[in-house]
Amino acid sequence: MSTAKPRIFAVVNQKGGVGKTTTSINLGTALAAVGRRVLIIDFDAQGNASTGLGISRQDRTLTSYDLVIDRVGLEKTVLSTIVPRLDIVPGDENLSGVETELAADPRRSYRLREALHNYIDRTVNGELVRYDYILIDCPPSLSALTLNAMTAADALLVPLQCEFLALEGLTQLLRTVEVVRSGLNPTLEIQGVVLTMYDRRNNLSDDVADQVREFFGNKVYNTVIPRNVRLSEAPSFGKPALLYDYRCPGSEAYIRLASEVLQREKARAA
Ligand code: ADP
Ligand code: MG
Repeated sequence: MSTAKPRIFAVVNQKGGVGKTTTSINLGTALAAVGRRVLIIDFDAQGNASTGLGISRQDRTLTSYDLVIDRVGLEKTVLSTIVPRLDIVPGDENLSGVETELAADPRRSYRLREALHNYIDRTVNGELVRYDYILIDCPPSLSALTLNAMTAADALLVPLQCEFLALEGLTQLLRTVEVVRSGLNPTLEIQGVVLTMYDRRNNLSDDVADQVREFFGNKVYNTVIPRNVRLSEAPSFGKPALLYDYRCPGSEAYIRLASEVLQREKARAA
């Protein structure tokens, strides 16, 4: 059992379909596979992270919505998944109301931070569970939910799709990061930028990868996630790709990504 505080990462990009959820699920699984205790917070009204981890709609009695709106204790909202050491706070369509419901609260952006910082350690079969990593799977917007995630997080993980216009919208994202740093969360870091859906047969993928490396320098992980159909099939079986086909190129890439994330964490702590 670790005694340190969990490290909290928000997986953000206001564009949809860039691999946020796929990264949350598979990076979370890879970290759990090497012995870390991991919690995913599904913070998207589509609930894709929950579905992809085999959590049925009926099982989503308390969700991240209840966590931030009704201040239900984190320990009451957590569900186990089929992956040992990987838990989830599920999400559902109620999350789409959060923006409006929190509009009148001047401290609205601190809701998730407070929920995570106040949580009571969870006891499972008599064992105390303390997470090493918490991954927040953000919605495709720079909304109240994403601001809550950025305020709660120690660092951001930014997936970028290797496609035309990958860099579009990044100025807006980085401006939001600066706004958050100037008030809500001064110590917010960028853990790294991960290139996703890389297609080596497509020259454009290389051009985009070069541009992103030029822009972000060594913030970009060496590991690039290939476009791999196994990654997109796995969620329909309610499993991470790492359980569905652990030897597919997508799974292997996420295992390498996890090791890079851990290396950066180690370098940071040193
Ligand atoms: P986001 O959460 O940013 O909206 P997703 O992770 O849901 O993005 O990915 C969007 C779609 O692309 C999903 O159908 C997902 O299964 C698929 N996908 C994600 N990453 C890959 C990849 N590397 N190769 C192939 N399909 C992928
Ligand atoms: Mg998603």
